[in-house]
Amino acid sequence: MRNETVKTDIAVIGGGLAGVNAAIAAARLGRTVALVNNRPVLGGNSSSEVRVWVCGATAHGTQRYARETGIMGELFVENQFRNKDGNPYFWDMVVLEAVRAEPNIQLYLNTDVHEVEADGEAHDRTIRAAIGWMMGSERRIRFESAVYLDCTGDGLVGFLAGAKYRLGREARAEFGEEWAPEAADEIMLGSTLLFYTKDAGHPVKYTPPRMAIDVTKTTIPERRIIRSGDNGCAYWWIEWGGEHDAVHDNERIRDELWSVIYGIWDYIKNSGKFDADNMTLEWVGSLPGKREYRRFVGDYVLNQNDILAQREFDDRVAFGGWSIDLHPPQGVYATESGSKHLFPDGIYHVPFRSLYSVNVSNMLMAGRDISASHVAFGTTRVMATCAVIGEAAGTGAALCAAKGISPRELHGSHLRELQQTLLRQDASIIGLRSDDETDLARGARVFASSERSRFGIEQPAYAIPLHADIGITVPVDPALDGIELLVDADAQTTLVVELWDTGRPENYVPHAKLAEASVALSAGSLQWAKLGLSWTPVTACNAFLVVKANEALALHISDRPSSGVLAYRRSEQTGTSRPNEEHQPGQPLVEWRKHEFDHAAPCIRLTAPTEAFAADKAIDGYLRPYGGPHLWSSERMTAARLEWLELTWSEPVPIRELHLVFNDDVNDDLINLHHHITPYETMPTLVKDYRVEAREGGAWATIAEGRGNYKRKNVLRLDAPIQTDRLRIVVEMTNGSEYAEIVEVRVYA
Ligand SMILES: Cc1cc2nc3c(=O)[nH]c(=O)nc-3n(C[C@H](O)[C@H](O)[C@H](O)COP(=O)(O)OP(=O)(O)OC[C@H]3O[C@@H](n4cnc5c(N)ncnc54)[C@H](O)[C@@H]3O)c2cc1C
Repeated sequence: MRNETVKTDIAVIGGGLAGVNAAIAAARLGRTVALVNNRPVLGGNSSSEVRVWVCGATAHGTQRYARETGIMGELFVENQFRNKDGNPYFWDMVVLEAVRAEPNIQLYLNTDVHEVEADGEAHDRTIRAAIGWMMGSERRIRFESAVYLDCTGDGLVGFLAGAKYRLGREARAEFGEEWAPEAADEIMLGSTLLFYTKDAGHPVKYTPPRMAIDVTKTTIPERRIIRSGDNGCAYWWIEWGGEHDAVHDNERIRDELWSVIYGIWDYIKNSGKFDADNMTLEWVGSLPGKREYRRFVGDYVLNQNDILAQREFDDRVAFGGWSIDLHPPQGVYATESGSKHLFPDGIYHVPFRSLYSVNVSNMLMAGRDISASHVAFGTTRVMATCAVIGEAAGTGAALCAAKGISPRELHGSHLRELQQTLLRQDASIIGLRSDDETDLARGARVFASSERSRFGIEQPAYAIPLHADIGITVPVDPALDGIELLVDADAQTTLVVELWDTGRPENYVPHAKLAEASVALSAGSLQWAKLGLSWTPVTACNAFLVVKANEALALHISDRPSSGVLAYRRSEQTGTSRPNEEHQPGQPLVEWRKHEFDHAAPCIRLTAPTEAFAADKAIDGYLRPYGGPHLWSSERMTAARLEWLELTWSEPVPIRELHLVFNDDVNDDLINLHHHITPYETMPTLVKDYRVEAREGGAWATIAEGRGNYKRKNVLRLDAPIQTDRLRIVVEMTNGSEYAEIVEVRVYA
């Protein structure tokens, strides 16, 4: 046996997606990091040991333009490239390699931290060391760091350090939360085991083990959806332990979950109700995926009202978008739906004050143990949201370690630096503008080979009857002055279109009606119907057009979607109660569903020219859609014209590093496992081949290039700095899109 001491700037305990993202963020900022995980595989509940699919702000495609960027975004895009079919082991490797790519991270797998040395009064504790035991290696390791991150999910590190925490549900009156119970209690979300099945190609016998329950004596067959051939997280509802202690009763909970799985499999195989003769169990989980345990108290406790109001915290450092998703305490045995869901009208913000302990001065937290009420935790708990919170907390930890200050001091005196550092990393913050004064691009004039100023989606692929209202969001920059829609009319009729605003730049739902226009149409197909809708908003923003249902009309749809435009179908049934999911009525996000248009768009023309895709959008400081696409787009690329974006300065500037952000279409809902398959390996809108040229001695010289690119953010560091007053990025080829698009260019000396 060995005793060791590891000294790093930062110790991240817990290697779920929160811990992984925190460690990578801190390491990239030059801090040394120990990442400690008590299991052999990184990824926490997303790892092949548990196999929960990674959801986030997209909410399975319900939210608009909501996929995460930053480190979590890199993981999604990398996984899509290597593993679009969602093999759980390949996902493990994507996560492991992302960590191993960082020389500043020392990774300790199989290392269980169960002792913490901390001192100070209860209101002002300081962690001095966290001690772990590396299983299988007989190594007792003492981790000494200036800053600690508790990313354990269960919150053991903070607990041992004396950090204040909460367990269970708050009383409704505490934060005025409608979804909280009248009186506080210790009910939590339960734990789950999952299983995978396969078709063996020949009949396979199944004799249930003695522990298997007889599910026909429960409400499971009637109250939950059981299908032969479902796998893994499709069975998220095999949940139990909400009325127990998820940690201390973990063994008991695992046994109960196994009994349920083997009982469900008995029902599938032997009840005669399923075509399952050839089916067999391929994998059954043995580590219960835990949903909920301690939630630390920070300087702010995020609650239901913040989520629903989409409160714009001054210290926002991340965003989420999953619904508030709570489950009945009895889990799989409950007679109610397995989950109930409530959405705000768009994404919501997470404040930095919820990411550090109120009473342990050198501890931050990320993941499911952040400072949130039980109800707010109901949405922040999904893994891509845990991950972006991890990136924010890891970035905060790195700045604290560099400056020798506490997270609270960082919040008090260096908040802008924290947020700007996150934006420089392309992290997931919405509506905050980058104003990095060291970025030389901010002082440049920008122009381009062409700009997509005449906006039209004009190639029809199929037509849909207008049985329901169809919504379309389009950028209005600076004004809308007429639209055209491509329609078929069965008979003489009138097409009616309403113009609505969206309320907030980050929302894509109708908020207030501004105008209505109609046009009389004769019978005939492929007609461009002109509607005189006009609007000049104070600042550029999106318009929500409502194309009213009309049984005599069909709307033409293009299978070539376009940046800046989304479409939605209005659903009659807004509140639904199904066995697995109950949705509240009156939620515009659910009412206006975009799924069928995710890789398509209505054929539409904007009559007036638009500046929504102008060249200077690439330096406007916004990295994501926010009241407009915030990217430069060329006209449709042709062999006859080279597409480029050029930056010029009045005097030559020294250039050493370039940051290029390409468009990876944050509207597309990527996922690590098999929930759904996005058809392409690389996002078509991403630039594939490009070169960067500088004007030197009256001629263009290539100073950097990218070949076969499939990533969103490219950082190009030149071997030696150059001086130039003209720089251009020449887009040679995309990964499929007909338009050259660049979200952001940064230039550093
Ligand atoms: C069955 C189930 C279904 C769910 N459905 C979804 C879903 O569909 N999509 C989604 O995104 N989210 C879902 N969630 C929620 C999500 O999985 C969790 O909220 C999320 O995993 C929390 O991330 P985390 O990094 O905080 O913690 P975890 O994923 O729990 O990771 C914590 C890590 O810390 C390690 N650790 C713990 N204690 C110690 C210690 N003392 N020392 C060292 N290491 C330690 C653990 O081994 C683990 O690797 C679900 C959860 C469950 C259980």
